[in-house]
Amino acid sequence: MTDTSPLVLVVNCGSSSLKFALFDLDRPSPLMSGLAEKLGSRDASIRIVFDGERSSTNLPGADHAKALAGLVAFLEGRGLLGRIRAVGHRVVHGGERFTHSVEITPEVVEGIEACAALAPLHNPANLIGIRAAREALPEARHVAVFDTAFHQTMPPSAYLYALPQRYRRELGVRRYGFHGTSHRFVAARTVEVLGLDPHDHGLIVVHLGNGASATAVRDGASVDTSMGLTPAEGLIMGTRCGDVDVGAVLYIARAEKLDIDGIDAMVNRESGLLGLSELSNDCRTLEQAARDGHAGAIEALEVFAHRVARTVGSLAMSLARLDAIVFTGGIGENSACVRAAVLTRLGLLGVELDEAANRAVPHGAVGIVSRSQHPVALVVPTDEERMIACDTATLVLDRPLAVPAVDHPIVARECARGSLQ
Ligand code: AMP
Repeated sequence: MTDTSPLVLVVNCGSSSLKFALFDLDRPSPLMSGLAEKLGSRDASIRIVFDGERSSTNLPGADHAKALAGLVAFLEGRGLLGRIRAVGHRVVHGGERFTHSVEITPEVVEGIEACAALAPLHNPANLIGIRAAREALPEARHVAVFDTAFHQTMPPSAYLYALPQRYRRELGVRRYGFHGTSHRFVAARTVEVLGLDPHDHGLIVVHLGNGASATAVRDGASVDTSMGLTPAEGLIMGTRCGDVDVGAVLYIARAEKLDIDGIDAMVNRESGLLGLSELSNDCRTLEQAARDGHAGAIEALEVFAHRVARTVGSLAMSLARLDAIVFTGGIGENSACVRAAVLTRLGLLGVELDEAANRAVPHGAVGIVSRSQHPVALVVPTDEERMIACDTATLVLDRPLAVPAVDHPIVARECARGSLQ
């Protein structure tokens, strides 16, 4: 690394948060990362991890622009600002218009605005981040990386709803899918780790976090995914119900006299693991409670695992072959208990769980968790920020980013079994 090597800043704006990471193109791990949260409130604050050191500053009443100004001041103070050549922005919804990452121009901003109706909570926040970052870093080139773009290769049979087609034509109602940046990163990494043919493989990537989705990847392209027009469809999530009979929602709404906002709150914020367990949306809390015998927690985890297995089974029908089932996300990477509950349900697909290897996957590492080789089940940690930085560097700096070395799968498996360190 030289002190003049170019830097790429990654910005991920939520409705009241701003996540960021700074990458040196010559180094495999980020130089700096952090989070500003509770923006717009008196409790707003910014946390930064730089060179292994953590700092935290209160920013009462700060909005996204003020938080970004705080970040810029921090970078200036460390002589890093002038080295930032490009900024990669996470954008949640790219509709049908954005099938790849693109450099941000006035037309691209218009396009993101046009997609805002499809993601009213997310795209406006992403646009605030884009505007503030372009003002703060006018010399840098800015790139938009879309959560939906990876899934634009799905065929109509996978993305159409059986609703009147005029809603698709007039309102853009169809399945788009999300977590695309994570699915793309993990799928590419899996191909590399397992030494698969990039032009002939079949994977199911299962991203289990507070939000959860699974994707069938055929020869590097998404061919079906569990989320739909919005992230509410598919798997059970922390507080979202995932797939549910629309008739059940209508029945509850009539019985409880819920309006649209009430329905929105029920399916997106009061359901999922929280609604099922009546305890928590957090998998770690539920696992502990389940060990203590909490009936709601035990049931919630069982229903969660059953839904994942059922979804993997149906996604497999979009593939010509199934080489691997890949777990990622906070739960997928860290919960041996959820992985085991899913994999023991997938015997029909030829999956055979390796219990000891599954329990021993080190945090943050790649690890094989099945005895079966075809399909193999494994853990591959996701890194959406790195993927965004990578797209940004490739697109506007015309150079790739350094990538951490891939663990050899056999080494990972032996390591997981405790025979190697
Ligand atoms: P994410 O949204 O990807 O950050 O994932 C958040 C989810 O991962 C939460 O439900 C956490 O409880 C869960 N999680 C993180 N670490 C663990 C762990 N060691 N065991 C079980 N669940 C975990």
